[in-house]
Amino acid sequence: MALQSTLRSKLPNVKTTIFTTMGNLAREHKAIDLSQGFPNFETDSTLIDLVTKAMKEGHNQYAPMAGYYRLRETIVQKIEKLHGKAYDVATEVTVTIGATQAIFTAITAFVRPGDEVIVIKPAYDCYEPAIEVNGGIPVYLQLDGDDYSIDWEAFRSKITPKTKMAIINSPHNPSGRIFSKNDMLKLQDVLKNTNIVLISDEVYEHIVFDGATHESASRFDDLASRSFVCASFGKTFHVTGWKMGYCVAPSELMREFRKVHQFNVFCVDHPVQRAMATYLQNERHYLDLNGFYQQKRDFFLNAIKGSRFNSIPAQGTYFQLLDYSDITDEADEKLAKRLLTDHKIACIPISSFNVDNRNDRALRFCFAKTQETLEKAADILNGV
Ligand code: PMP
Ligand code: GLN
Repeated sequence: MALQSTLRSKLPNVKTTIFTTMGNLAREHKAIDLSQGFPNFETDSTLIDLVTKAMKEGHNQYAPMAGYYRLRETIVQKIEKLHGKAYDVATEVTVTIGATQAIFTAITAFVRPGDEVIVIKPAYDCYEPAIEVNGGIPVYLQLDGDDYSIDWEAFRSKITPKTKMAIINSPHNPSGRIFSKNDMLKLQDVLKNTNIVLISDEVYEHIVFDGATHESASRFDDLASRSFVCASFGKTFHVTGWKMGYCVAPSELMREFRKVHQFNVFCVDHPVQRAMATYLQNERHYLDLNGFYQQKRDFFLNAIKGSRFNSIPAQGTYFQLLDYSDITDEADEKLAKRLLTDHKIACIPISSFNVDNRNDRALRFCFAKTQETLEKAADILNGV
């Protein structure tokens, strides 16, 4: 067939994501769904009213390519207040279709065939396909499943003359760990005097617990000078379905990013950007998130105290890993499916985030759920 060679997949190893698979199974089995990460409670009606207002006022045509100016201005002010770094509104911030698009676009703008990109595993699943579709080569640093702490000398050993980029994610999905200031300083030291571009995936920036500080890459001068810091309003404002986020980067990096962005996306939903610009001005809308989710984490962990699962409390994100090695030896995917069919609870087996699907005997549970859902989930888990 003439199309045969054309149909040869550019991404032969990509399958349906574990989030879609587990989410579909959860619906099919009418299970309590703590699998894919999304809140199951209502969005603030103030935010919805602001979108409606923007639509009714007629802001229904294209927004500026880089994003609605007042939104970019508010983002820049927020970062300066929280992290002491002043990005330029005109040239250093771009509003995107969620963090996913920011990450994809940054990779596409810089990674050429044969370039290496360091990816720390376990890793969220959108990085590798973006690297591979651009001809890049993911180079893995697999962390160990006891506490997923990082050995920065091991990270350094992954750097070669071909390393174009590295990707970090703190607070980290799926482990719930956060990078300390010391981690970031070590990373800064490792990258110093290299030409490596960093993607810092900070979508859970406002979900950190126990008084910890989110150590954004924008706080560290040398890191900031080489980084795309990527953020998600979906996570911060409980609207994952709106798919809106942004990234900030020095102007020389952002110039290349926008060359891709303007032809792949051009601009992002205009009325939602207008609403976000107003909503983001009230800092309580993001600063209160730590306490809000810490209460949910603590409630969940307390409610399953009597279960046979073991855990180290998540330091950030809305995910809690539960270690099941006291329950069974079976593979996490198998157990996750059995929990679904036999116990009617859905979670994410984290082997899908590891190199060679290594089994860490841990499952990821999303606690961005109502009290009622968390109570039902705890009842089930206590009986496993
Ligand atoms: N990075 C990580 C670590 C995530 O968990 C998510 C959540 N889906 C994303 C990026 C993508 O964010 P968004 O939904 O804004 O595209
Ligand atoms: N970030 C979500 C999670 O980790 C998944 C989003 C998606 O399905 N792409 O659960």
